[in-house]
Amino acid sequence: MELRSILEKIVKEKKALLHYNVATYEQFKAGVEAVKETKIPLIIGVSEGERNYLGINYIEDLVDEAKEKGINIFLNADHCKSIESAKEAIDYRFDSVLFDGSDLNFKENILRTKIIVNYRNKKSKNTLIEGEIGYLTGHSDIESIIELKEEYFTDPDIAEEFVNKTKVDLLAISVGNIHGIPEKIRFKGREYKKAILDFERIEEINKKVKIPLVLHGGSGLNKKDFLLAIKSGISIIHINTEFRVIWKKELAQSLKNKTNVPYKILDKVVEKIKKRIIYYQKLFWIKK
Ligand SMILES: [Zn+2]
Repeated sequence: MELRSILEKIVKEKKALLHYNVATYEQFKAGVEAVKETKIPLIIGVSEGERNYLGINYIEDLVDEAKEKGINIFLNADHCKSIESAKEAIDYRFDSVLFDGSDLNFKENILRTKIIVNYRNKKSKNTLIEGEIGYLTGHSDIESIIELKEEYFTDPDIAEEFVNKTKVDLLAISVGNIHGIPEKIRFKGREYKKAILDFERIEEINKKVKIPLVLHGGSGLNKKDFLLAIKSGISIIHINTEFRVIWKKELAQSLKNKTNVPYKILDKVVEKIKKRIIYYQKLFWIKK
């Protein structure tokens, strides 16, 4: 099945897909095992750094092989900052490519995103292109304090103009979400322990923009946040840092065992990640 048709169904049924990032075989394997069990589609992401580390053909082959076995796992080129890296992912027929021009000014973001959409139209029709409008602060790691400003947030009218001009298939938005898990978030002179999402803004963007909306920076949000975000119009939720933390913690724990057999050590890591993937898959796959 194509990601496009799965997303069409999801938008109608007001459900969402989980997206998490992969830099090791164990993280990938956990996703495959989760989909085998839940039968719920899943998106795995590789950033430019993760692609370089894993090898772009290696991860693409792994995903293709899983798809051939009927496992609904999809591959996203996460946060492509350069036109070259986005084009490369299209050449490799990724299921989706996020061209992240959010650091650029509006005009330049439109211009470069359009180059990617046009390139896709020529090369690989099944690759969905995600654009990003509004600024997402933070890094996918643990940080002490993050300063959040309302000017980072996605303006619904600007989002509409961006989508109309670029013809992207998916849109990443900034609505109070941040990358990473900070100890504190400072916003409008107050300090918060977790991100406060602007659900009304999601709804407004959803009314103006007729394509699936993507929420990055899901780590640290709670169950209520996720359910409200999906209800307001989010169709894909990225959770990265939380899975990185699980990976490191479980690996450290597992290495304390006396065994020197790698798969006996790594199996426990896969199991923990898989459990958490399944938790989110089921949470986002809301039954009506
Ligand atoms: Zn992201």
